[in-house]
Amino acid sequence: MTNSTSKGTNFDIWLDSYASRAHSLSVSEVRALFAVVSRPEVVSLAGGMPYVHALPKELITEAFEKSMSTRGDLAIQYSGGQGDLKLRDQVRELMALEGIKSSVEDIVMTTGSQHGLELISGLFLDKDDVVLAEGPSYVGAIGIFRHYEAHIEHVETDHDGLQPEALKEAITRLKAQGRKIKFLYLVPNFANPSGVTLAAKRRAKILDLCRKNGILVLEDNPYGLLYFDKKVPDALRSMDDNVIYLGSFSKILAPGFRVGYVLAPPAIREKLVLAQESAILCPSMFSQSMISEYLDSADWQGQIDTFRGVYRERKDAALEAMAEYLPKLSTTHPDGGFYLWITLPEGIDSKAMLPLAVKELVAYTPGTAFYGDGTGQDKLRICYSFPTPENIKVGIKRLANVINLQTELLDTFAKGGKK
Ligand code: PMP
Repeated sequence: MTNSTSKGTNFDIWLDSYASRAHSLSVSEVRALFAVVSRPEVVSLAGGMPYVHALPKELITEAFEKSMSTRGDLAIQYSGGQGDLKLRDQVRELMALEGIKSSVEDIVMTTGSQHGLELISGLFLDKDDVVLAEGPSYVGAIGIFRHYEAHIEHVETDHDGLQPEALKEAITRLKAQGRKIKFLYLVPNFANPSGVTLAAKRRAKILDLCRKNGILVLEDNPYGLLYFDKKVPDALRSMDDNVIYLGSFSKILAPGFRVGYVLAPPAIREKLVLAQESAILCPSMFSQSMISEYLDSADWQGQIDTFRGVYRERKDAALEAMAEYLPKLSTTHPDGGFYLWITLPEGIDSKAMLPLAVKELVAYTPGTAFYGDGTGQDKLRICYSFPTPENIKVGIKRLANVINLQTELLDTFAKGGKK
């Protein structure tokens, strides 16, 4: 085998040949961190990794064996572009937990919900089209919208999620400017990165506004079943069949399977299947069949309870550490999911501070990663899903040292250098 390396490669050689949309592909803040955070001495509060250690591996082995014995060669064959019929039926039951009534006809299995986002964006977005997105928004969605050269218009959120008044203002303003708004993207439950949940009373208002203005709603819900105590309000999709709903097995089972799903409005579903077939022929039958067997034979609801317990304990550790080491900072208090969203003292830039934090052996994701317009400098995201509660506390203590030092320096400058 030859040992090929990229040393000496001229990476600019095909620059003029790339499609214009390829120029928007750059290393995201989150991706750039992966190399650093894999060092064992760094406490990473950065990447949103599910705690897969809490999933007994025998369950995976059993699902594999059952899949091979019941489906045989079909489990490793190409399959239909829409995905496995049996799994789609099981997904129907999963979505019913959030109040959604659906038909297997309208469900399309995808390679993670990331792929669902990509397919839908490919179907709907032309250059300069507007995507309304809650601010802050999931970094992976921002990357896709940018790739399709859409204009991302953030709509303000608060502790109850997206603000209907702000949405109304944005729609009115953009329409007056003659802009084409293609869809509203939101993560209604335990949002990435803010951790907030869209209040039940706001859901109907938002749907009503979008319906009146002919705007599709894209509801991305990978965290909804990971509530700590109280179930989330019913899905937006349960109130309106024109919502495109995205779900995933990444957080309630494991992301390595790369299996997600889209519940599409009937008018869109066929196009979506065609787009999927054109892009990847079919989603992985191997993964789908294992998940189907897992859902058939394992106590998957009990497993989700286990995950909930793990994440609740970690959220408590993170909030306790915030109260102890950074009591003056404002943070969200999530009722589920993986994330805390923190506001820094005035004058501190989370992106500029990151190298100093890494030097102190703690990593986080700067707020700027979650806005398409470069704002969010005064925010940062802490992900508590993966490190142990003890390490979360160590990480937040280290973070406090960095923030406190920055604050002291700013105070000293403000006083003209006199202590
Ligand atoms: N949407 C949101 C809000 C996410 O946080 C993630 C992953 N972190 C995804 C979609 C993509 O998940 P997957 O492709 O693994 O299903």
